[in-house]
Amino acid sequence: MQLFSAVPERGLVTWSPSVTLVPTRGCFNACTYCSFRVPLDQARPLTLEQAAAELRARPAAAEVLLLSGEVAPSSPERAGWLARLVALSELALAQGRLPHTNAGPLSLREMARLGRLNPSMGLMLEGLGPAYEPLHRQAPSKRLPVRVGQLQQAGRLGIPFTTGLLLGVGETRADREQALWLLADLQRRWGHLQEVILQPWRPDGDQPQPLTAAEQADLLHTIAMARELLPPEVHLQMPPNLWPLERLPDALDAGINDLGGIDVADVINPAYPQPAVLGLQELLQRHGWRLQPRTCVHRGWWSWLPARLRLRVEHTARLLASATAQANLPHG
Ligand code: SF4
Repeated sequence: MQLFSAVPERGLVTWSPSVTLVPTRGCFNACTYCSFRVPLDQARPLTLEQAAAELRARPAAAEVLLLSGEVAPSSPERAGWLARLVALSELALAQGRLPHTNAGPLSLREMARLGRLNPSMGLMLEGLGPAYEPLHRQAPSKRLPVRVGQLQQAGRLGIPFTTGLLLGVGETRADREQALWLLADLQRRWGHLQEVILQPWRPDGDQPQPLTAAEQADLLHTIAMARELLPPEVHLQMPPNLWPLERLPDALDAGINDLGGIDVADVINPAYPQPAVLGLQELLQRHGWRLQPRTCVHRGWWSWLPARLRLRVEHTARLLASATAQANLPHG
């Protein structure tokens, strides 16, 4: 498909005002680092009434991130789980929001169905190499061929897609380079990877554990490598709550140009508070960067969307631009 001015503008840093809904924390995987998951028999699925109340509480959040635990493909619960994702996507659209689903690997039919409702979707590659194997021994859907197959499937379906790497779990620089080459090859083949998240792994707990100077230097090297290896239209994203705020300009200088969806809290890393958007804006301005809200799908991929979704995205983008022009950055 044809990309439209997809190459990011220099000096511009984007973010998406978002609210995260968790359809269920129940997950049949058991990744060793995960504190989000609960066993399937203890999960309490989010009802539509609860979801509607959460959306009402966050009127300025343009993106609704549907971040879900996973049900096994062969489970009799799978159809109900998918129906909830569809219903929540429809609810988001009905409230004038844009859903972005990240719910693990999907069948072709499941992904196509959600793709008609979600302007963009996502699935982390996480990484490749021996460091990831012990983390995912009890997580069948984290196997590399499954993840790569999902990225290819999203490409075949023409769904603007977010993926990323989980960094700092013991992988080598050579592992990271290989993973970035893999993503670059997928992008050259399909063109659908609108953004790649470079996510530092951070330990859970009551207190945040900031990245050390050595860890920051190592990640800056990887950001620069990603910028060099990935095609220029791919946005490079860093979650701003996982990186020291005063060093954020260094990450931008190395190649980061997107801060992802910013909610009032991070459901995956709850000990790491989200920065205030106005404070971010002031910091970045001082360093010569312009912070701008965006929709969940970057502009270069709008032409890929079904007409109904594209109109929704364009309308939302106008609202965000108008809020910015009035110096009334969405934060709620
Ligand atoms: S797949 Fe996601 S929710 Fe499930 S255990 Fe792994 S990290 Fe946790």
